[in-house]
Amino acid sequence: MSHTAEIPLAPGSESPLELKPLKAADPASVYLRRAKRLEVLAKDSPLADYLELCRRLVAVQAKLAAKEDFGLPPAWDKSEGEPLTDLGPSADSYWQSLLQQLLSELLPQVDESVARVLRLLMQQAPEQLSAWGQALRQGNLSTVPARFSLFLWAAMGLYWSHWAPAVIQRMDQRRVEQQSLCPVCGSHPVASVIVDEPRAGLRYLHCSLCESEWHYIRAHCTCCGHDKEMNLWSLDDYQANVRIESCEACHGYTKMMFLEKAPLMDVAADDLATLMLDSQLNEKGYGATTVNPLLLAHETEDSE
Ligand SMILES: [Zn+2]
Ligand SMILES: [Zn+2]
Repeated sequence: MSHTAEIPLAPGSESPLELKPLKAADPASVYLRRAKRLEVLAKDSPLADYLELCRRLVAVQAKLAAKEDFGLPPAWDKSEGEPLTDLGPSADSYWQSLLQQLLSELLPQVDESVARVLRLLMQQAPEQLSAWGQALRQGNLSTVPARFSLFLWAAMGLYWSHWAPAVIQRMDQRRVEQQSLCPVCGSHPVASVIVDEPRAGLRYLHCSLCESEWHYIRAHCTCCGHDKEMNLWSLDDYQANVRIESCEACHGYTKMMFLEKAPLMDVAADDLATLMLDSQLNEKGYGATTVNPLLLAHETEDSE
């Protein structure tokens, strides 16, 4: 490994040279694993129908991620900030062509009420799709019709996750600082994962758009950076594989998934499956600082 990390390391770290501040994903295998996990979680879930729709959607993502032509590499910004934030019209035309393919693949697999939404989305003008896509990427979720958000994000995720690994290879990782938003594309994380490689208990935030992961020191708020008065919550015992870290300074919270204890977990799928934890934290006055791509339809439902 040629690059060392300038981001703060966890206290007591032994071998800082091995820490990767930024990890690229293999999108096809991320989607495959997510689809499998959704299938398992759908059994006996009160959200079974919704999880099954998500599973079919993610399975189509897996197929397209492995096969599709993604065109020429986007003209990404090499100067400063997150390189895949502002990509311009050519990226729009590529992700929108992925959207059309994704919708045609999904159409025969869904019931009539969802099929109506898909057909309506297929007929939207490119300018409209570009505007909605940009609004979603900038976090203005409520300005996009909730029924379309899930599918728009899925198509953009395919495009951004395809190019993120190539961009990461060319980024100077020494300039990657600990930050709340994805250093590659500027999107919110879904949740954080705790891994034991290259050393025990490292935390990475997982991007909701490009599936990259970036290191973030534990026991520091992933939203405001505060490192005192952090609380840990879980549904059952202290050994729980999914825990929430909440912050008394900004009243935000982030989920942590302990992948070493449950290697089949997937950030987006397991976040959906543990919404009980969210409602308990919401009742106590805390708000999520994360975005789940599979939950967009639900999150914006009220604002339509
Ligand atoms: Zn990203
Ligand atoms: Zn905070």
